Amino acid sequence: MMKNHEKTYTTKANFMLHGGDYNPDQWLDRPDILADDIKLMQLAHTNTFSVGIFAWAALEPEEGVYNFEWLDEIFNNIHGMDGRVILATPSGARPAWMSQKYPEVLRVNGARVKQLHGGRHNHCFTSEVYREKTQKINRLLAERYGNHPALLMWHISNEYGGECHCEKCQHAFRSWLKEKYDNDLKALNDAWWGPFWSHTFTDWSQIESPSPIGENMVHGLNLDWRRFVTDQTISFFENEIVPIKELTPDIPITTNFMADTHELIPFQALDYSKFAKHLDVISWDAYPAWHNDWESTADLAMKVGFIDDLYRSLKQQPFLLMESTPSAVNWHTVNKAKRPGMHLLASMQMVAHGSDSVMYFQWRKSRGSSEKFHGAVVDHDNSSENRVFKEVALVGQTLEKLSDVVGTNRPADVAILYDWESNWALNDAQGFGLETKRYPQTLQQHYKTFWEKDIPVDVITKEQDFSSYKLLIVPMLYLVSEETIARLKTFVANGGRLVMTYISGLVNEHDLTYLGGWHKDLQEMFGMKPVETDTLYPSDKNYVSYRNQSYELKDYATVIELAAAKTEGQYEQDFYANTPAVTSHEYEKGKTYYIGGRLEDAFHREFYQELINELALQPVVSVKHEMGVSVQVRQAPEQDYIFIMNFTEEKQPIVIEDHLKDLVTSAELTGEFTLEKYEVRILEKARNHTR
Ligand SMILES: [Zn+2]
Repeated sequence: MMKNHEKTYTTKANFMLHGGDYNPDQWLDRPDILADDIKLMQLAHTNTFSVGIFAWAALEPEEGVYNFEWLDEIFNNIHGMDGRVILATPSGARPAWMSQKYPEVLRVNGARVKQLHGGRHNHCFTSEVYREKTQKINRLLAERYGNHPALLMWHISNEYGGECHCEKCQHAFRSWLKEKYDNDLKALNDAWWGPFWSHTFTDWSQIESPSPIGENMVHGLNLDWRRFVTDQTISFFENEIVPIKELTPDIPITTNFMADTHELIPFQALDYSKFAKHLDVISWDAYPAWHNDWESTADLAMKVGFIDDLYRSLKQQPFLLMESTPSAVNWHTVNKAKRPGMHLLASMQMVAHGSDSVMYFQWRKSRGSSEKFHGAVVDHDNSSENRVFKEVALVGQTLEKLSDVVGTNRPADVAILYDWESNWALNDAQGFGLETKRYPQTLQQHYKTFWEKDIPVDVITKEQDFSSYKLLIVPMLYLVSEETIARLKTFVANGGRLVMTYISGLVNEHDLTYLGGWHKDLQEMFGMKPVETDTLYPSDKNYVSYRNQSYELKDYATVIELAAAKTEGQYEQDFYANTPAVTSHEYEKGKTYYIGGRLEDAFHREFYQELINELALQPVVSVKHEMGVSVQVRQAPEQDYIFIMNFTEEKQPIVIEDHLKDLVTSAELTGEFTLEKYEVRILEKARNHTR
């Protein structure tokens, strides 16, 4: 299959960005510190800084009174060292005068309590005043800096998230619903299963957003509210960028996405698949809890890779690591320092999965308030001689050798489908196991097999084209619309292999269950239907026999009624012992597989190895290694860039058959060599065009 190797320069920079959030507005009375910053930035081999993220109070100290002189100087200082600026709009935090004069800008929480000024992310995303104020300051920024030669990109607001339940937002929600349901209240009542508990609405004004002191059991309402929150956040963002698009149409726009910790899963509160369409570049803030006491370093690295591959696949182009810490964060339960070597390894992992940057929050540690101990490049000692600073400089020196990697992507034959809406609906579902639904973690478990085998995976969303993949995996796709079912059917009919699991295809886009057991098209594609989902207690176990081996099952077992499908594995115990647990079915030119239970990793390795063999899925380059070593590749038109990373605490033997060039040392490499604990090697291989 031909895959596209063309380069995509998402930021127009042909070098790796290295730098981070720079908050000189905290140090304006210390010109000596600001002068040190420029010297230290060069010593750290940094080149790009995100400026102005929380600077509204410094930019507009009084309503209508502006002070841009300090920012002019920062722009010029960074430009003077041939650096670039990612200019932020300041809407992530507001000046106190604004909250005081215009209380409508403040949020009302789900319990209908008006919030006081404070923290950040505390704005009503509907407020006309806040939208007007934001657009005004953004226009001034674009007018003043739009033509500055150092301006590289726009960073809109900061880590959008949260929701507001004020009267303006209730009104906006009702308008959104009227549009969605075509002004037909009966259609809304039908979609939300209104007669249940007498929840039929007879006037639009009766509808309120979900609340802990009001309605929270109508799943259709909850789902539509979450959709509205995403749409209203995007609407706020679109309002922010009006002057920016008008005045600087050629400067790319991003906003920094997040992940949820501590288990490191994609951010749950906003549907990023919708948000991505409004951005030029995806960027995200990655804060894995390295060296934690509940998982191996390799397992955590796998989860980072999963999120990278999801955010990279949102636009099928390189992304940016917008924030990370060179040492420890300040908000984990335990804030452990990165061990020597981990900073380079973790940074290169991001690049290996498609990042064209390594950026930090933040450049210099604050002196006071909540982030004074959050890891930064420059510590309170103001020194370039400490361990953390030196490791940052090493990352900078390494990135300087990777300019050719910028703009390259990593084509994949395997895709895993991630769906925010389905996750919301599944978490809302009162049933199954409250603690064991774990949709993102289940996808990560399926991803793990391919990560271990160095086979590239795209983590895609339901709107994306399925046709270029040989294998599509849709674990726990609880909510699936008829439209998506039809697209899955086309994918299989045209020769695709589709893997589905327990708790899939149960409800439609309104969170209403499908009648007739299971959707008729799914029954036809899979040649079976799930008739019961058995949820197990944490201490319960069952086993599935598959290819003469016995594999442990936890949490979920689906009782399957077979039609034309073939039984591939059977349950060993309980009232469904000796009935099908894993099935396959040839459908038109393709084939489907249904995995009825939540099975251990060893099963996935065996199950997917057969598909890997049948479909001739291969790593881009053959590297022999033990578990815990990851090999990821980015592909340019003529070259493969190969990242070999040791996510274990031991030395690891590596064998390569090709003759490869080390991009950092320029040495030729072949045969056997050893990777030290946390070591990474970055190698280059000229591609032969027959592949
Ligand atoms: Zn509001």
